[in-house]
Amino acid sequence: MLKTIHNLNLKNKRVFLRVGFDVPLGDDGKINGKEDWRIRANLPTIKYLLKENCRIILATHLGRPKGKIVKNLSVEPIQEKLSQILNLPIMMVSDCVGPQVKKTADKVQGGEILLLENLRFYQEEEENNLDFAKKLASLAEIYINDAFSVCHRQHASICAITKFLPSYAGLLLEKEIGILSEAISNPKSPATIIIGGAKAKTKVPVIEYLLDKFDNILVGGIVANVILKAKGIDIGNSLLSDIDLDEAKKISFKDNKLHIPVDAVVCNDKNKIILSAIGRIGDNKILDIGSETVGVYSKIISNSKTIIWNGPMGKFEEEKYSKGTKKIAQAVAESAAYKIVGGGDTIFALSQFGLIDKIDFVSTGGGSMLEFLSGKKLPGLEALEN
Ligand code: ADP
Ligand code: MG
Repeated sequence: MLKTIHNLNLKNKRVFLRVGFDVPLGDDGKINGKEDWRIRANLPTIKYLLKENCRIILATHLGRPKGKIVKNLSVEPIQEKLSQILNLPIMMVSDCVGPQVKKTADKVQGGEILLLENLRFYQEEEENNLDFAKKLASLAEIYINDAFSVCHRQHASICAITKFLPSYAGLLLEKEIGILSEAISNPKSPATIIIGGAKAKTKVPVIEYLLDKFDNILVGGIVANVILKAKGIDIGNSLLSDIDLDEAKKISFKDNKLHIPVDAVVCNDKNKIILSAIGRIGDNKILDIGSETVGVYSKIISNSKTIIWNGPMGKFEEEKYSKGTKKIAQAVAESAAYKIVGGGDTIFALSQFGLIDKIDFVSTGGGSMLEFLSGKKLPGLEALEN
């Protein structure tokens, strides 16, 4: 059972709150428009803790600095945005561990928030390092995880830290787990899951398990490239992401519930668009699903009663490769099914198309949502059960 913060005496307590404020930053280094949704999603927990007069030590990662200090991945824009949203000054330190941070954290009063610098500036974070976790833990007396999007990772501020503090799930994490559990325990059939995007390493391995639970799996993006290649179908110079292809080949993709693209929008070496049937990509690169695939997928979507979607169908950031994602988004929006979407880029795409309000539940998790739905135990959730 997930330990939650209800019935917990939090009055005046010093709380380490891990959130997933991994927001996209604009060219001006700021958080623009609706891109603050990941911050707003955690507001219920933050407000709850403020009401309990907690001293909040707030921690997040931002982007992939890979264990180094990367100036434009500082959490400063988050400090500014959160302060604006809450209409409250947010304190910040330029590090997340060490004597100076400890000193500042000790001075935080009830109803105040101290934001720590990007956790991933330390490689120890992604290594799940115990010493690093212990230093983080020394800043507070209670640990609350409200970052579902990172629960599939064995990271220090998600897993190791729970060895040092009484640990609980925040309100957002609790809500996400509740809704997603319900979605898999009792899905209205036909249930369809759409998987695309770039992070093939986390997404492709769960497909085998999802095949047991869903009536249809529709794939696009680099995830589809990997499956095509693993099936021995030529994909030319299309991207494969960071997955080990031999690992991918071991996965059974034979099930007829799995739908793969039949055509694609590809570009040649002069960056010119051509439409191709799958199997005849030549030396070119797949950048979107083609219109025939859109037709097949849209039909399945419109007949579904449950739809879950994570991962764009193509490189939608470029207008000329956005059609597949847009058409699928429209089909999903128009369907009468119960709809859940997750993943930073998928949500960004749906917001851009003005369709995000048509979705019943928007999860902050992408890869973590797929892993959870596949039935796999997420390390971050297991850590909260001990
Ligand atoms: P999410 O954040 O929704 O979980 P991912 O982070 O896994 O999705 O992937 C999103 C990225 O995948 C986007 O930046 C998009 O441009 C890229 N992408 C999707 N399909 C392709 C493709 N065929 N070629 C190159 N990039 C692609
Ligand atoms: Mg993404």
